[in-house]
Amino acid sequence: MSLQEIKTRIAKAEQEAGRAPGAVTLIAVSKVQPLERVEAVLDEGQRIFGENRVQEAAGKWPAFMERFEGVELHLIGPLQTNKARQAIELFDMIHSVDRPKLATTLARLAQEEGKCPELFIQVNTGEEPQKAGILPADADAFVAECRGLDLPVKGLMCIPPVDEEPSLHFALLAKIAERNGLSGLSMGMSSDFETAIALGATHVRVGSAIFGDRSHPV
Ligand SMILES: *Cc1c(COP(=O)(O)O)cnc(C)c1O
Repeated sequence: MSLQEIKTRIAKAEQEAGRAPGAVTLIAVSKVQPLERVEAVLDEGQRIFGENRVQEAAGKWPAFMERFEGVELHLIGPLQTNKARQAIELFDMIHSVDRPKLATTLARLAQEEGKCPELFIQVNTGEEPQKAGILPADADAFVAECRGLDLPVKGLMCIPPVDEEPSLHFALLAKIAERNGLSGLSMGMSSDFETAIALGATHVRVGSAIFGDRSHPV
């Protein structure tokens, strides 16, 4: 599917949900894609990209950023504290703030660096043991903790369990965001971004539907 088709589908989903045109930001998830595919999407005008590993992003994006103006990078995968400084330097937004230790590290480094990406707190809405994220029951306290650290919390992010109806998870995330006065909702991927938009997504993270299957696993 082309970038243009995805944008058309996003616009239609916005309209059907009674959302303002442009209310939803498309993050093109370029992890493990061949560089020529990423370049083709840059040539089509896309500037907002998501990567799930700091190392991989640091290897590929500085060169693209020299050639293409206005690139905005989003970290959507787990962040180890020893990579946090590099992440602050490279990324415009981090969608995977998922534990107190990472929050305190980011707060300290943001002071030192004099800047901080906008942050999404990842919520483990399916309460899956293998998945990162704050449990729904702990989310309100963690939002407060991050705010207490003066971190720029923009919203919440989730990755629903693969075998469950995603809409229940999107609705839960929207509810937690609303009661915490957070406007950002990072939810929806290739298979379910229209559902996410219907339930209030402000940022959708779409990879394979734009770039094709990731033939080389991470
Ligand atoms: C890979 C990834 C995506 C994109 O997934 P697709 O199904 O290819 O659209 C979105 N969010 C996160 C956190 C990812 O790791």
